[in-house]
Amino acid sequence: MPLFKDQGIVVRQHKLGEADKIVTILTQGSGKIRAVAKGLRRTKSRFGARLEPFTHVSLLVHRGRGALDTVTQAEILSAHRTVREDLALLTAGEAMLEAVDRVAEEHERNVRLFLLLLSGLRVLDASPADPAAVAESFLLKLLSLSGFHPALTACAVCGNPAAALFSSGQGGAVCDGCAEHGAGPVAPEALSWLAGVARADLADAGGMTPPDAVRREARAMLYGFAEYHLERRMRTLPMLARTPLPAAVVP
Ligand SMILES: [Zn+2]
Repeated sequence: MPLFKDQGIVVRQHKLGEADKIVTILTQGSGKIRAVAKGLRRTKSRFGARLEPFTHVSLLVHRGRGALDTVTQAEILSAHRTVREDLALLTAGEAMLEAVDRVAEEHERNVRLFLLLLSGLRVLDASPADPAAVAESFLLKLLSLSGFHPALTACAVCGNPAAALFSSGQGGAVCDGCAEHGAGPVAPEALSWLAGVARADLADAGGMTPPDAVRREARAMLYGFAEYHLERRMRTLPMLARTPLPAAVVP
C-alpha cells in the first residue's frame, strides 16, 4: 500500500533545498512520519500554509521506501491559528509538540498520543487562563502514556504515603527509607498540585492555581523528571518556565 490516507498534526518542518520542505507529522494511524512536501515554499504552492506546525490536516501520503514519505495532498481540518498568535499559548503548544516529537515512534500507530495532542491543541484554542498549567498537565499525561508515570501520592518504591522526597531516577516521590543519593526534599503542596493536574482533564488544569512558590517547585520537579525520562534536554521548557503565572486562587 504505497499510498495512504490519514489525518495528522504537523509537529515541525524544515527546509529542503530551494522550494521543498520536510515535515514531521503525528498521524492518527501511522504514528510519526517524516515526509517531503514539494513546492511548499513557492508562492501559489498547492500546500501553502497548510503544513505549518500545529495544523491538523487530512493527508494523502506516498509511503517511501526509506525514512521519508511524500505528501501528495493536504487539506486543513483546523489551523489552530489562535495558538500561534499568542505568546503564552504558543509557548505551551510548542512544549506539547516537542514532547510528542520526542516520544512518538515513526510508523508506529499511537492513537492515544494523537488524541492527546489533538485535545491539548483544542484546549489551547479556547485561550485558557493558565496555558502553562495545561502544558504541564499534558506533559504528565504524555509521560504516563509513555510508561513514565511519576509517583506523586506515595513512595515510588514501597508505596509509603509519607513520601517527602523526590527523585526522578527512582520514579518520583520517595520516602526517607527508600531515598537514594540525589533525592531532594519536596513540599507536599507541590506534589499534590502535580497529582491534581495529572488527574484533571486538560481543560480544567488551569483552574487550580497554587501560590507561586509551590508552583515553581512543582515545575522544577516535573521538568527535571520529564528530561530525565525523555533522555533529552527540552528546548521549550525554559520558555514555559518563564510564562507569567496567573494570581493564586485563594480558596
Ligand atoms: Zn519507600
